[in-house]
Amino acid sequence: MDQIKIKNLKIFAHHGVYEQEKEQGQNFIVNAVLCTDIEKAGKSDNIEDAVDYGAVCLFIDAYMRENRFDLLEAAASHTAQELLLEFPAVKKVELEIEKPDAPIPLRFESVSVRVTKSWHRVFIALGSNMGERLKYLERAVSDLEEDICFRNIRVSDYIETFPYGGVEQDDFLNGVLEAETLYSPEELLARIQEEEEIAERKREIHWGPRTLDLDILFYDDLILAKKDLSIPHPDMKNRRFVLEPLAVLAPSFVHPVYRKTVADLLRELNER
Ligand code: ATP
Ligand code: CA
Ligand code: CA
Repeated sequence: MDQIKIKNLKIFAHHGVYEQEKEQGQNFIVNAVLCTDIEKAGKSDNIEDAVDYGAVCLFIDAYMRENRFDLLEAAASHTAQELLLEFPAVKKVELEIEKPDAPIPLRFESVSVRVTKSWHRVFIALGSNMGERLKYLERAVSDLEEDICFRNIRVSDYIETFPYGGVEQDDFLNGVLEAETLYSPEELLARIQEEEEIAERKREIHWGPRTLDLDILFYDDLILAKKDLSIPHPDMKNRRFVLEPLAVLAPSFVHPVYRKTVADLLRELNER
């Protein structure tokens, strides 16, 4: 993606663990790389189509002066997140904050922390087979719509499906949600589990009845296999109730492990 670079922006602010740093303040130096699509502005030569880097510099300066963090890590990650929220055309930001006068009793040039934050395209499977199924699904969707760390949410139609996995139980209502998110994979898992808790989901029988089940299907083209989190969702190629609504939203999305599109995975499942 195209980049805009900001080099050595000097900001006087009050971040640091020590009282003296908080009271007196010190100089910080910010370097930023903004990833954005400059094609439109490149053609039109119109500021309205561009990310206004002057405004970005003023925004970073104001945010860093108006807030106080103990750690450079927190200053960098909050500033990066706020910048993405303020400038929607910036898809990704790499932000480095240097502290040339950090309180270290040695000779050194500077210390710095660098963070990368970006919007990530995610797909989440939604399911419910207890009580007011549609209400549980709609409540979860509307909570995510109100969360500033999500944008461009699209939801498939909901479909009635026969329970998967052999446990005798009521039919499900299933769908898939697509969104862009600022959450990391672990944060996203915690966030959807929060929604399951709001729906008072009880974990009793494996693959048993539930008020709400939210599973992360894809997170960009990330492949992750951790104890608590596998992405892509490992069993999706066997689940029509996942692939059908997913294929409505994103038929040409390529599964990063199988290297096949969602439409192909659905066709193969139907042929099996
Ligand atoms: P399945 O994942 O086969 O659909 P399930 O949804 O019934 O089964 P849960 O009881 O909801 O399983 O979740 C069990 C655990 O699965 C969660 O606590 C979570 O840590 C883990 N998990 C692993 N990968 C994912 C993922 N991609 N999305 C959601 N949870 C996941
Ligand atoms: Ca599930
Ligand atoms: Ca689940």
